[in-house]
Amino acid sequence: MKCPFCRSDNDRVIDTRTIQEGTAIWRRRQCLACNRRYTTYERIERTTVKIIKKDGAREPFDHSKIKRGLEKACWKRPISDTQLEAIIAEVENQLETSFESEVPSRELGELVMQHLR
Ligand SMILES: [Zn+2]
Repeated sequence: MKCPFCRSDNDRVIDTRTIQEGTAIWRRRQCLACNRRYTTYERIERTTVKIIKKDGAREPFDHSKIKRGLEKACWKRPISDTQLEAIIAEVENQLETSFESEVPSRELGELVMQHLR
């Protein structure tokens, strides 16, 4: 990490702490050239999942749009709003953790149906 004061690329970590319930790491560093201290944060990058539509166009994972589609698909079934929200959150989480940055709309549909069952 380059020192923000003298631009030297030589530092040591003097303290490391886990913060925000383990989702981020805080590091106190000291520059070995000028001895000044600074802090860095490390966190997991949450990528936005993109949906590949049938015509090949990409659009970002849209929570409310998927919910509307689900509501249409399930209007006959006894599914509460909370359950729908839970399903979408689950699917979104699953996509994010699978490191898949793009998913075909058909696959997304299948994933949603799996959770519906
Ligand atoms: Zn420095």
